[in-house]
Order: sequence, then C-alpha cells, then structure tokens
Amino acid sequence: MYNRLYDHFGSQDWWPADTPFEIMVGAILTQNTNWQNVEKAIANLKAAGLLSFAAMSILPVEELAGYIRPAGYYNIKAVRLQNFFALIEQQWDGDLEYFLDQPAAVLREQLLSVKGIGPETADSMVLYAAEKPIFVVDTYTHRILSRHGIIPEEYGYFEIQELIMDNLEEDTRFFNEYHALLVRAGKHFCKKSKPKCGQCPLSGVGGITDCTQTNGYD
Ligand code: SF4
Repeated sequence: MYNRLYDHFGSQDWWPADTPFEIMVGAILTQNTNWQNVEKAIANLKAAGLLSFAAMSILPVEELAGYIRPAGYYNIKAVRLQNFFALIEQQWDGDLEYFLDQPAAVLREQLLSVKGIGPETADSMVLYAAEKPIFVVDTYTHRILSRHGIIPEEYGYFEIQELIMDNLEEDTRFFNEYHALLVRAGKHFCKKSKPKCGQCPLSGVGGITDCTQTNGYD
C-alpha cells in the first residue's frame, strides 16, 4: 500500500511547519477541523509575533482564543493549549527541546496526561515534532485498512497502531510519510460516502477493487 501511494502521490513532506513548537500548536488546533482553518490561525499568531512558547504561554486565555478563532472550537482549544504549556512550564521549566528529547513512550505518556490531548494528537507530536518513530492512526487509516479487510471494522486506535508497529519497520521517516500518504488517499479517493475506487492507486489491494461491494463500506 505504501509503495502504491508513494508512487502515485510522491513525498508529502509533512509536517508543514517551521519549528517543533509550531507543529505541536498545529496538532492541537487541527482537532475537529480542516487544515486550511489551522493555517489561518497559525498565520494570525505569526503576524502578531506570538508563535513561540515564551510568547504564547503568557497570553491570557481570552486573547489566545481570539488569535486562534479561525481553527474553530477556539475557547476549548485555547484552554487545551494552555494545559499543554502548563506541562512544559511546570515540569520542564519551559524547555521544549529537553521535553522532546525524552524516549517516545515517556513523552507520549506525559502528553496523554494533558487534558485535551488524545492519542492522535500526542502521537502526531511524538512523530512530527520529536521525530521519534510512532505510527499515527486516524479516521482515514481506519477506513482504508478496514475497507481492504486488513483490520476488522471494530478495531480501535491502539489495536491498529499495534498491528502496524508490530509488522512494519519502526522508522520515523517511513511512519511520517505513510501517515501523510494515507491522509492524502483518504481525502482524495477513500471518501466516507462516495469512495472513488476506480481511480484509486489502492484498488486491488487485498483483492478489493470496489469497496462498495464489501462489508467495509460505510
Ligand atoms: S480502492 Fe477504494 S476502498 Fe481502497 S482506498 Fe481506494 S477508495 Fe478506498
């Protein structure tokens, strides 16, 4: 699947950000919204010269919410960002680099302890900001793998992650690209209600050429 997607789409060059801090902010902002909205929020923060831990961590929550408004759920996300900043400030003395230098499993556990950071957000930070090998699972991964009969429909986040990490080489660059390619395939071809199997590079994988004919179709 990886080879087919890579041959079709090429490198996705993720994550689109200038610094690890920007990646981590983007990972929280992208919850329940599309990337275009996140870009607007990030642009607001950049234009105001605020896209750094030192600047953002001391912003009052209402002010922070105003800058990230385009990302949607801005009041909730402002609180989530502040929860994350509090972890870095209180436990790591504001040293993001030192925080990111921890082993992936420890880093992940600490991120998951922050209210508002779930597995997908935490793993995105571990993979893209800390550049440590962990596979990020999302809706597209679940949909594509289940439609091709690789996982049962009822598999959850950790079951999918374990299956992939137990069977594929743990390599940061590879996991980075694979996740990005699955997102691209999900957005362009494997749509929830109208999959375009006829044009999709994954057509035929696992003997599935038209997922509307399988149980995996939702
Ligand atoms: S072939 Fe169909 S089911 Fe498979 S990824 Fe493409 S659109 Fe989805």
